Amino acid sequence: PLAPEAAAAPTKTHCPYCGLQCAMALTPGGRFGVSVSGRQFPTNRGGLCQKGWTSAELLRHPDRLETPLIREAGQLRPASWDEALDRVVDGFRAAQAAGGPDAVGIFGGGGLTNEKAYQLGKFARVALRTSNIDYNGRFCMSSAAGAGIRAFGLDRGLPFPVSDLTSAKAILLVGGNVAETMPPFVGHLTAAAEAGGLIVADPRRTPTVERALAGGGLHLQLAPGTDLPLALGMLHLAVTEGHLDREYVDARTTGFDDAWLAAAQWWPERTERVTGVPVAAMRRAVEILSRSRQSDTGAYVLTARGTEQHATGTDTVSAWIGLALALGLPGRRGSGYGAVTGQGNGQGGREHGQKADQLPGYRKITDPAAREHVAQVWGIDPAELPGPGRSAYELLDALGQPDGPRALMVHGANLAVSAPRAGHVVDRLQSLDLLVVCDFLLSETAAMADVVLPVLQWAEEEGTMTSLEGRVLRRRRGVEPPGEARSELEVLQDLAIRLGQPASRFPTAPREVFDELRRASAGGVADYSGITYDRLETGEALHWPCPAVDHPGTPRLFLDRFATEDGRARFTPVDHRGPSEEPDVDFPLVATTGRVLAHYQSGAQTRRVSELAEAAGPMFVQVHPDTAARAGVRDGDNAVVLGRRGRVEVTVRCDESMRLDTVFLPFHFAGDARANLLTNPALDPTSRMPEFKVSAVRLEPRVGV
Ligand code: SF4
Repeated sequence: PLAPEAAAAPTKTHCPYCGLQCAMALTPGGRFGVSVSGRQFPTNRGGLCQKGWTSAELLRHPDRLETPLIREAGQLRPASWDEALDRVVDGFRAAQAAGGPDAVGIFGGGGLTNEKAYQLGKFARVALRTSNIDYNGRFCMSSAAGAGIRAFGLDRGLPFPVSDLTSAKAILLVGGNVAETMPPFVGHLTAAAEAGGLIVADPRRTPTVERALAGGGLHLQLAPGTDLPLALGMLHLAVTEGHLDREYVDARTTGFDDAWLAAAQWWPERTERVTGVPVAAMRRAVEILSRSRQSDTGAYVLTARGTEQHATGTDTVSAWIGLALALGLPGRRGSGYGAVTGQGNGQGGREHGQKADQLPGYRKITDPAAREHVAQVWGIDPAELPGPGRSAYELLDALGQPDGPRALMVHGANLAVSAPRAGHVVDRLQSLDLLVVCDFLLSETAAMADVVLPVLQWAEEEGTMTSLEGRVLRRRRGVEPPGEARSELEVLQDLAIRLGQPASRFPTAPREVFDELRRASAGGVADYSGITYDRLETGEALHWPCPAVDHPGTPRLFLDRFATEDGRARFTPVDHRGPSEEPDVDFPLVATTGRVLAHYQSGAQTRRVSELAEAAGPMFVQVHPDTAARAGVRDGDNAVVLGRRGRVEVTVRCDESMRLDTVFLPFHFAGDARANLLTNPALDPTSRMPEFKVSAVRLEPRVGV
């Protein structure tokens, strides 16, 4: 059955997957209830990638969960909502009776709507009084967020509209493979690519690199884990070869002298020796950016997961921001620095209080004024609000331990596949007294749960998402949900009532929740108070901060001042510490992980879409043929990648463009093919980001297959 409005006209909504949030129209009919088409919008200009085009298949998928499930005698069996919810609350009560409020943990996701992310944080702190809430964005954007706040006093992935990139003649993209992760984004890089000004820093020759090279641009093929010295080496060149924008640095920044002292040690030859990037390429990259900025043809530095997913991720992003500041880019119309967000609501997901250290409005949970304000909106005493909790991996590592949570509820994350050191995380999940998973498919994590609650997916729900450029978008219902599936807002209300909360404190209408979110965010960094559903319905482009209903929103930040106390951006002196794990005689190669075109995140959704599964093929390792030969394998062979934390079964894909010391593993596959069985949970001290990008491994033939 179709929602009445969908029967009358195509429903305008946005893609269920990545942070570009391409605009879609859902037309009733077809095998899956609706058919999907691209819609004109500034970010995607009518285009969608293969993931977006095929997204309707999940709406009528045979694996779609339609009824709650409860584990009994080791098996999951269908249950009524009352029975399932009672089991959850009984488990929460038992855990907290034994271990106090923090004995229950909540794990959220960067794909949840703003309303769900907000309500989840409130549920944890008000209904459960637990400090143990964090989310999978900790694994995704947290280092860029930390570095952005450090430098600019505020973190918004792109502090300018994506369309500002379209006319720029010079763009340096560090650690991002947008040609596969968000293909319509590449259209915004065309002018730079055609001018020979697209520069990509990546250990691999990705399709994004190919695009750059085709136009005469550059590939800075650095060794994994050397992003930070590469940035310092390029800053060194910028200063010593006359590209420092002294006027900008003096007028708009602080801390340059200390940052330069650190970068001064990274003379070009030393940088080349450590990173593997030739001096000539670094020099050319700096020249391209500097000349384009000076001639007002636009210059940008963009960073993504490749720079962030390190135990030095925050410092690494700070180093790239330092280069951008030295060249005079941030806060200047037509130039800038930005971080390219990954998850669908990676931006909004980190603003509304599902992070361990934050309250709605992107406020610090330790700030007394923030606690007072949010407690007042929530109708509780500020003293009742818990303090900061454990970060995502620390929360998972504590599960089932003497002082850790005994019960965990997961929303919008597939931890058994996506968490670092995944084998250990699965052990921890299995040690719980109660694991509850809210999902619309039986993901690998849901399959382990004691209770599975079937919730709504993208085209079945109403709400808002905040895209990578900080613009708030409406998600709209195009089909009715099947069976007994319920909105997560309803689930949270049902649980809250059972925990003794008034129903009115946990409304279920997305618009009502959003209006409360607006009040909670008022005066915060991410101020949504002027954004309303009515304004969004008229098509207004509203980027936060938007502090009043007659405020136009803020598409471009920092044009006059940065969000620091003195209005100046801050350089941070940082130095190279190297990855936490180095190759040795047993594990002589470096494994780095990432995504492929046809899959999204843990693959729980995209592995079920037939066209995508066929396009992606099975799990593989990408390796130079000489490295493969030394390991005794050839292209197409079955092999195993072994590391200090596990082993992964792969098919060998030889590629002569790979570095001899590096192998690449996509992280979308399940079972023995999980790349995260190898990854290192060494944490960045500021962002608590695990080091997904560097693990020491060896490659071997797989015998007996
Ligand atoms: Fe657009 Fe990303 Fe969806 Fe692809 S996955 S259609 S790039 S929003």
